[in-house]
Amino acid sequence: MSFSRRDMFFEEYLMPRSANGIGDFLATNLIPDISGIYREDLLNHLGRKPEKPNVQGVILSHAHADHANYISFLHKDIPIYCGETCKYILDAIDEQSQRNLENEVLSFKKRPIFKNEYRDPPIEREFNTFRTGDKIRIDSLEIEPIHVDHSVPGAYGFIIHTSEGTIVYTGDLRMHGTHSHMTDDFIEAAKESKPIAIITEGTRIDVQKTNESEDKVYRNSKKELSKNKNLSIVDFNFKDVDRFTTFYKIAKYLGKKFVISFKHACYLERYHKDKKIKSPDSRDGGIQILKPKRLTGTYIDEDYTDWYIKRRLKYPNIITAEEITKNPSKYMVVLNFWYFNMLVDLKPYGGVYIHSLSEPFNEEMEISYDRMINWINNFDLRFVQSHCSGHINGHDLKQLIKTVNPKKLYPIHTEHPDMFKRIGINTEIVQEGKLYKL
Ligand SMILES: [Zn+2]
Repeated sequence: MSFSRRDMFFEEYLMPRSANGIGDFLATNLIPDISGIYREDLLNHLGRKPEKPNVQGVILSHAHADHANYISFLHKDIPIYCGETCKYILDAIDEQSQRNLENEVLSFKKRPIFKNEYRDPPIEREFNTFRTGDKIRIDSLEIEPIHVDHSVPGAYGFIIHTSEGTIVYTGDLRMHGTHSHMTDDFIEAAKESKPIAIITEGTRIDVQKTNESEDKVYRNSKKELSKNKNLSIVDFNFKDVDRFTTFYKIAKYLGKKFVISFKHACYLERYHKDKKIKSPDSRDGGIQILKPKRLTGTYIDEDYTDWYIKRRLKYPNIITAEEITKNPSKYMVVLNFWYFNMLVDLKPYGGVYIHSLSEPFNEEMEISYDRMINWINNFDLRFVQSHCSGHINGHDLKQLIKTVNPKKLYPIHTEHPDMFKRIGINTEIVQEGKLYKL
């Protein structure tokens, strides 16, 4: 799924119509017209004949929406392969999202849905999970997933053994995160495999060497929050467990309670289940869950109709904004821009707001960013930017490719494929819809 292409045609009040199945997606080129991959119900809906699947599996590198979401359209008999942790994150996303045609990753409802079918159970997809060290066989291919460091746990690169030689796919990765040793493991295995081709991400191929790191985010944020005598507010992507750990550690160090939302609790409970990720449970003593105002605005149980909130209402560590205002310096609240209307109740005057996300990189984000600054100023908050990217910089990526030394290079997931030509490896600029044979 390409966010930028989706933005070319759609925005908040102009959306692809579920009522037209995949018709709107095909017409705007958001998905390619490939035979034998799409859901039978969606093809039927378009007036086409359903097709038997002609791929034997789809491998998902990690749980970010641009990689995972359009699994939604795939034929039910195409099995999905992903990391164990990646599946946990997909479960967390699924638990707190309203079903729509673009997020039916784990299961889907046959379209069109007629009124008497509303209660029919969804069709579950087949998911097969793996960890580093496993080998997956799909038809004549043998695939080795190897962990990489990225801004979401459970991210993998792949070494794909074919009858013509080995192909390496990087997925999304970086060298400057907390677990750069994982990316090193991947590079080492990729190099050893003497690949005939590499398919590589290149989101930041145009960026020089940077001195960013998760540790820098930690030190900078800790310094800023230590000086704060009022409420501390932080915003980061909760799919990034390293960033969660960064702020949770700071909250502990400063003796503050870490306040999350019910949506965040869905993620935290999955992280906690994962033995490899050492995260606290959402009911941990250091954590509190902020109860949003719904319906009557009086916090009564009947106000909450979403199941992911309802089933957690009896947790012992639920707190309201009004309680936080009694002793604001004792709390660090994770609050995303889309929930900024809660600032009205939190009254964070004179506090600090840490924006631990990337800066805006398109017009739409600029508009939201300006609106965010208005809220910040309205509540007299001190704004601090503290972030490091989930993607490898151009310098490190060129180094990676030279080390792996493939015979051929296919850059994808990049706005600057031409820049790869300067690396000195035979580079093929990929055209959409074209078949490449090795
Ligand atoms: Zn990603």
